[in-house]
Amino acid sequence: MNDCLFCKIAAGEIPSTKVYEDDEALAFRDIAPQAPVHVLVIPKKHVSGWYDAQHESDAMLAHLMRTAAAVAKSEGIVESGFRVVSNCGADAQQSVRHLHLHVLGGRAMSGEMA
Ligand code: AMP
Repeated sequence: MNDCLFCKIAAGEIPSTKVYEDDEALAFRDIAPQAPVHVLVIPKKHVSGWYDAQHESDAMLAHLMRTAAAVAKSEGIVESGFRVVSNCGADAQQSVRHLHLHVLGGRAMSGEMA
């Protein structure tokens, strides 16, 4: 999508600090980290959010989750624990309308979900 920030990052038009990349997915460090480890996992294909994700393949959606787990491993936060968060829509405060998983770790999280 022409004016999508994460599409531009996926295309290399906007720089990012990549931690993983393959044909379908990209993982890069969040520009405003909320934890010592804060990585975003995105599909390279534009998908606006979880509602639209229902039209994507099971394989693609599973691949995003596997990538999040692989990132947690490579970032060294599997043993200490980590949180995977994905915001969808205005009430959830999704600020970038391109599907993404936040992988957060490296500190103890609040017990609150929101
Ligand atoms: P959300 O608010 O759930 O849509 O998450 C969007 C995330 O993208 C936020 O945590 C932002 O800090 C992050 N973000 C915005 N612009 C960039 C960028 N250029 N590079 C990396 N992360 C970004």
